[in-house]
Amino acid sequence: MRNILPDGITRVLVTGGAGFIGSALVRRLLRDSTSSVFNLDKLGYASDLSSIEHELNVLGAEAENRHQLLRVDLCNAEATQLAVQQADPDLVMHLAAESHVDRSIDGPGAFLDSNITGTFNLLQAVRQHFEHLPAERQSGFRLHHISTDEVFGSLGVGGRFSEATPYDPRSPYSATKAASDHLVNAWHHTYGLPVVLTNCSNNYGPWQFPEKLIPVVILKALASEPIPLYGDGGNVRDWLYVDDHVDALLLAACRGVIGSSYCVGGHGERTNKTVVETICDLLDQLRPSGSPHQRLITKVGDRPGHDRRYAIDPTKITSDLGWSPRHSFEDGLASTVDWAFNHLDWFTQVRKRAGYGGERIGTKA
Ligand code: NAD
Repeated sequence: MRNILPDGITRVLVTGGAGFIGSALVRRLLRDSTSSVFNLDKLGYASDLSSIEHELNVLGAEAENRHQLLRVDLCNAEATQLAVQQADPDLVMHLAAESHVDRSIDGPGAFLDSNITGTFNLLQAVRQHFEHLPAERQSGFRLHHISTDEVFGSLGVGGRFSEATPYDPRSPYSATKAASDHLVNAWHHTYGLPVVLTNCSNNYGPWQFPEKLIPVVILKALASEPIPLYGDGGNVRDWLYVDDHVDALLLAACRGVIGSSYCVGGHGERTNKTVVETICDLLDQLRPSGSPHQRLITKVGDRPGHDRRYAIDPTKITSDLGWSPRHSFEDGLASTVDWAFNHLDWFTQVRKRAGYGGERIGTKA
């Protein structure tokens, strides 16, 4: 069987493994490694295990035996410590976070709890675990903290974020992610915890929770509802297909230099307007509706404090670790739209369970 992990990594703890990126990572680990995967998640509104169940149906009993769900809220220090003890990991990949900027505008408290206190509790538990490991396991141990490019703030028309860019978070979400990055670095410098960080740009792909831009547009268009475009539509994001992010995460976790951070982005800069229009054009081909779906695009008031532009310079991870994205934005978007078109029942179920009907969030500033 294929094993993408180095020898010695036989137990991996993934936090947030029921979320969009975490579940893509868990699926990859179950498919392409032989390690046990401990999936720690509080199972919040954004969680969904059906993509993992789907993968396990294909992979069978051997993989099923290697996957263990630990339903734990990182805000509970004691439960977090017990979960880390139970997982007894060689590698921790920390993705659990409240992740939606719009929700952070309406309710910032949950972001401070999960992203700051939750990370603190995890660091304390992992530190205790690390300090009690035998020397041969300690030497290969790592905690990989997964973060966002949003910690760097907003760019003008030029320039790109790199590992040297100073932090300048502007939203409650990015401020709490920045705080978690600082905590992880502090636990490295102060307590000697071996850590690696990555800061990635906007992800998209199958199984993404239906409040994020790309699924919102697909679902609104297919329902012939107005497709909201924030502000003038000129805000730029650097889009990356989720499986390309997972490739980068595994490289950084296994081969990244301890104490280092890596910026991850796939040269996928597009304005929101271009993204929305491209999705409409793809849907015109999949489900012609007499008149173009672009007719539904409706400008709405901008997000409060909306960062204008994000763009990543991925030179370091490309040259040092050999990472490059396998999907162009056009190919990745086409396959995501096609996937969504064929999984409308999944979106209905997820929306119902989360009590989210497609309404706009993030206007309470
Ligand atoms: P997501 O919201 O889809 O999933 C996050 C998961 O974390 C959910 O299953 C949730 O239940 C879990 N979680 C949240 N708080 C928790 C807590 N206190 N205890 C236990 N579990 C908790 O998010 P995502 O899009 O998969 O993002 C994963 C990580 O990647 C986040 O840290 C995010 O900041 C980072 N990131 C995301 C993107 C993106 O475009 N989505 C880009 C760069 C970085």
